[in-house]
Amino acid sequence: MATSSSKPMPEPNRATPSPKSVPKPNKTTPSPKPVPKPNMATPSPKPVSKPIMTTSPQKPVLKPKIDHKSLTDLAPPPQKPVTKPQVDFKSFSNVIGGELRKSRNTFSAKNPATKQPLWDVPAANKQDVEQAVRYANVAQKEWAKKTWKERQQICLRFKDVYSNYVDELTDLLTLEIGRPRVWCRREVESCALHASFHAQLPLPGGDGFDAGDREIMVRYTPLGVVAAICPWNAPLVLCFGKLFPAVIAGNSIIIKPSPYTPYATLKMVEIAQQVFPPGVVQVLAGDNSVGASLVEHPNIHKISFTGSIPTGKRILQAAAPTMKRVTLELGGNDACIVLPDVDIDEVAPKVAISAFLSSGQICVSSKRIYIHQSIYTPFLKAMIDFTSQIKVGHPDEEDVIIGPIQNSMQFEKVKELFEDSKRKEYRFAVGSKTVEESMGYYINPTIIDNPPDDSRIVTEEPFGPIVPCQPWRYEKEVIARANNTKTGLGATIWGKDIKRCERIAHEMEAGSVFINSAARPTPLAPFGGMKESGLGSEWGPSGIKAYMNEQVIHNFSGR
Ligand code: NAD
Repeated sequence: MATSSSKPMPEPNRATPSPKSVPKPNKTTPSPKPVPKPNMATPSPKPVSKPIMTTSPQKPVLKPKIDHKSLTDLAPPPQKPVTKPQVDFKSFSNVIGGELRKSRNTFSAKNPATKQPLWDVPAANKQDVEQAVRYANVAQKEWAKKTWKERQQICLRFKDVYSNYVDELTDLLTLEIGRPRVWCRREVESCALHASFHAQLPLPGGDGFDAGDREIMVRYTPLGVVAAICPWNAPLVLCFGKLFPAVIAGNSIIIKPSPYTPYATLKMVEIAQQVFPPGVVQVLAGDNSVGASLVEHPNIHKISFTGSIPTGKRILQAAAPTMKRVTLELGGNDACIVLPDVDIDEVAPKVAISAFLSSGQICVSSKRIYIHQSIYTPFLKAMIDFTSQIKVGHPDEEDVIIGPIQNSMQFEKVKELFEDSKRKEYRFAVGSKTVEESMGYYINPTIIDNPPDDSRIVTEEPFGPIVPCQPWRYEKEVIARANNTKTGLGATIWGKDIKRCERIAHEMEAGSVFINSAARPTPLAPFGGMKESGLGSEWGPSGIKAYMNEQVIHNFSGR
């Protein structure tokens, strides 16, 4: 049942979802006292479910702290009324040189909520790649002649034009990724935040300075053509985080969406043609080989990649012969540390949500939960009580908090971790030991109680709704365990003793540490991973420099 203002689009060959075929809510651990329903904060006037989780009605409702509105207000109002040209949301094309292009070969992705195939999409071939690269290089030369401010204004204009299609794009995103509609809408709307933030950044560099024997001026110039290679878990928001800094810096961009989620990205780029000159923003759908062709191409100058660590390593190698600039935003296995002084009723549901939201398919989801031994049992119980109430189901069903896993490949990977945990006889505190087949890729949120430190469920990134909880005793010990991984993307710390939280945060080998909140990255701050979780960073005031050359002019004239 749709709760957004717009009706979901009919899906090709989609069987009507039957709630019966969705796995039943967790029943492993019965809760002795009634637990309030888990809720979510929603940006929409007609939320799918109630405001964010809280364990007791007397307690204040947690509100998200990001003030999207004030950031959107950074942008000046549109100069001209924005018209809404017709866009066909049931036919999909690559966009090359400002034109919609079909291809002899096509592929389709599946709706993860029903396993039914969605629309056909053209699979880009080598010729498409060549043409897109040629257009991108020609268009970039002219685009770079525009001033910084002009490029920022065009991006703001795009934000306004794009906002005409938020309902349709929300429908598409919900169909292709299966996350509850309200969260899909939030992702679609994140365009405004990324555009507004990047549209008020000053051109880096500035006036020269006197260095005694010379004047020194540092200039920042565009790199040329950027290829943005994106994953399936948050296709639009991760794309915006590359698109705006790349084009404001004076580059052109070719976007390669994941083959599992091509639809909303293809339409977003099609809409972008209403604003950007041909060739500045292009998109090529296809399998991994399209990404590989872009990485190898001598006339592409930068790869901005978000995805898995193994692919990141392959890209780094493949980019070496052409000495491309590379930014890698990769996977992680984020630790969550719970201090002994937390309010258990308030924090346990938030920790559960930070692990299970979006079925655990967020790069900075909490993936290993360390709870102080003095509160381990009651905290775990509160998490179990909350988790057993989380409704799993079709993204348009009322009160659904988590939808299916996005694709069959990931479903099988997560299933493997369930099977391994079952084989090793770890305790399933909540959730079923066996993942049952159903009409979609649904998995109930599951907590493994105190598996060994070297278990697969602790050492591997599940990217699914299964999480280990373990007790800790000493601060040094938990820091060492949290850092005992090759990855270092994010971490969360919960406690009333803020000084202690900060002290632990400084010891975390992670690119982003969140204190007393689930992980909530924002374009206002740099985002990147330590260790194998990435190379370089994006976003924040400095992120745009990752799309620019740094040039220094040493001027000795008149000295
Ligand atoms: P993936 O690495 O399988 O694929 C990502 C993209 O790379 C896809 O578009 C794919 O077609 C393309 N690709 C695959 N092989 C390629 C190659 N050899 N050359 C060029 N392109 C290639 O990742 P995924 O499964 O789509 O994403 C899930 C992973 O992404 C998780 O590990 C998650 O933690 C990570 N992730 C990280 C961040 C972050 O910001 N750090 C954000 C979201 C997801």
